[in-house]
Amino acid sequence: MTDAPFQFFVVEVLRTERVTPAMIRVVLGGPTVSRMASAGRDQRVKLLFPQAGQSEPVMPDTTRADWYDAYREMDPAVRAIMRTYTVRELRHGPDEDELVIDFALHGGDGGDGGTPAGPATRWVRAAAPGDRIGVLAPVHEENAGYDFRPPEDTDWVLLTADDSALPAVAAILETLPPGMPARVWVEVHDRADRQELATKADAEITWLVPNPATTVTTAEAVRTAELPAGTPYAWIAGESATVRTVRRHLVGERGLDRRRVKFSGYWRSGTSEDHLLNTGEPA
Ligand SMILES: Cc1cc2nc3c(=O)[nH]c(=O)nc-3n(C[C@H](O)[C@H](O)[C@H](O)COP(=O)(O)OP(=O)(O)OC[C@H]3O[C@@H](n4cnc5c(N)ncnc54)[C@H](O)[C@@H]3O)c2cc1C
Repeated sequence: MTDAPFQFFVVEVLRTERVTPAMIRVVLGGPTVSRMASAGRDQRVKLLFPQAGQSEPVMPDTTRADWYDAYREMDPAVRAIMRTYTVRELRHGPDEDELVIDFALHGGDGGDGGTPAGPATRWVRAAAPGDRIGVLAPVHEENAGYDFRPPEDTDWVLLTADDSALPAVAAILETLPPGMPARVWVEVHDRADRQELATKADAEITWLVPNPATTVTTAEAVRTAELPAGTPYAWIAGESATVRTVRRHLVGERGLDRRRVKFSGYWRSGTSEDHLLNTGEPA
């Protein structure tokens, strides 16, 4: 029995739900979910999808410490397709354990209509109870797979996201202490893609819905905002060019301490996650 902090599990779809037009929630279950752990917040996992025509993902030897080398040695046309997602919720119940993942749709119906959908998005559009995927997930609550770590002296929190990082923002907001001031900007495709976000924090949430007539991007919205006084902690995620612009503004123009600005490109326009994994380039 390996004691690796992250382990592979095969899980199956219990049910799916349209949260909003451009977001599908997948509830995953199976006997192995009880062994998974999550820190909440922006806890990330790797999902491994079957290729077209396969009923199960073809996994590398997951007991090997160098499983990623083993994965890369496999035929790309056969091996599972690996993508990064956020644990929206991990529920350990007396009867059933459930891992909840929210998939933002892109390409084609419900998404941005521009770029063709990637394999993860194609998979979720067709996902049905009983479908099986692999998950590389932590087995300890404290683990290296999350970034939202505000220092103790944080007076207020700034969050920016697009729909791909909305599951993380939703989970982060659930963990903020009561009364903690939070300024939050979330860019979605359509007004119908806004969600109720539960929090005990004193959160001011601004939904940005760009349209050709009144395009206010996340970067512009943050740039023109009046921010609270005190020591901030910023967490910025979503499309990588936007993330870089917001970070540059916060550190360069607003003078935030760069150690208090956590930023993460969740996807890059025109580039699949395979390309980013293969080249080692950041998103
Ligand atoms: C730490 C982390 C956590 C993440 N959590 C989530 C999550 O919980 N939910 C979620 O939906 N996504 C999440 N993402 C983003 C997700 O991994 C990417 O969107 C991924 O590229 C989707 O895979 P795909 O197979 O659909 O598309 P890919 O094959 O990777 O890409 C195909 C094409 O689609 C474009 N594309 C990819 N994503 C988007 C998008 N969101 N909008 C528009 N175009 C896109 C690419 O630029 C490319 O041109 C996370 C990413 C990271 C790094």
